[in-house]
Amino acid sequence: MNTSRAVGNRRLQVDSVSKTFGSVAALVDVTIDVESGQTLALLGPSGCGKTTLLRVIAGLEEADRGRVLVGDRDLSHVRPELRRVGMVFQGGALFPHMTVGANVGYGLSQRPDRDERVAEALRLMDLVGFESRYPDTLSGGQAQRVALARALAPEPDVLLLDEPFSSLDAELRIRVRSEVAEILDSLNITTVFVTHDQEDAFVVGDSVAVMRRGRILQTGTPSALYQRPESAWVASFVGEANIVAGLAEGKLVKTLVGPVEIDRPADGPVEVVLRPEHLVLEGGGDGRVTAVEFYGHDTAYTVVMGDDRLSARRISAPVFSVGDSVGLRYAGPPTAAFNEGV
Ligand code: ATP
Repeated sequence: MNTSRAVGNRRLQVDSVSKTFGSVAALVDVTIDVESGQTLALLGPSGCGKTTLLRVIAGLEEADRGRVLVGDRDLSHVRPELRRVGMVFQGGALFPHMTVGANVGYGLSQRPDRDERVAEALRLMDLVGFESRYPDTLSGGQAQRVALARALAPEPDVLLLDEPFSSLDAELRIRVRSEVAEILDSLNITTVFVTHDQEDAFVVGDSVAVMRRGRILQTGTPSALYQRPESAWVASFVGEANIVAGLAEGKLVKTLVGPVEIDRPADGPVEVVLRPEHLVLEGGGDGRVTAVEFYGHDTAYTVVMGDDRLSARRISAPVFSVGDSVGLRYAGPPTAAFNEGV
């Protein structure tokens, strides 16, 4: 972790990896490519294969097909302890009977610079003075940082984080994830970070790969995924989205909220993605407000129009109430449209 250490090529490539458990296809032809020092967030619902992919990269699970490379080293058949891949498991999982220092030094017993590495990892995680403490005396955030220090102490080329914030309460989670994002940036370590939470993925990931049922559906920067989703499913999974039917004619779609400009020309029946923050409410119209949720920083309205239920968000205190008649208008950038059912 000496950050001045000459850093070799730590690009991580997972190339066409598949893995089946009995009749469950946990990974189907998965390819990811993470540049040296970058962080990829792997985002998907429970059971989509995220942990299995981490375990294949770490060497804890053998793939049926495909390869794992770091730099120009093919790790596919290298034993886990020789891969120079560190992993933080779900919930951190510290050894309860060992001190913080012993936990962090756990993987370093063979190394002459063990004490130095432990001290450096603790310093980096802002845990100086915690060496002799036991895990049950730590807060959730501190325990999480110890788990991270333990993974980082052996100076891995690649760091794998499996839902590292899942055991933290909402407020702590926001703080710890910003800290972790900052540390990962400064360390220049290639990281794959697993989460089912879109906010976590967007805050921590330089890029995000969206997974569903063992497949990667789309990879891109957070803003590219949000603005240019390639399917209605991805649009709804990365943030809130109203998916409404419309009739496309070139770059314009007729919808129940009026004309909407789309980013690629299309013709005929389509589904368009309308982000709630791009819908403007106006008094008097065909819609009826059925719910108002005031969050402090903004207000979310649910509006029913015919058979559709739409969500709109405005940065203001509530100006409409349940039962009000309202109209909706799209006031966002050209948006994505898909052929129905895609
Ligand atoms: P979560 O977010 O809930 O942790 P995940 O996206 O990490 O889920 P995985 O744990 O990778 O998903 O599991 C993917 C699929 O493979 C699931 O259907 C799971 O039941 C199955 N699976 C994983 N490990 C095994 C195993 N050792 N034996 C049998 N099936 C398994």
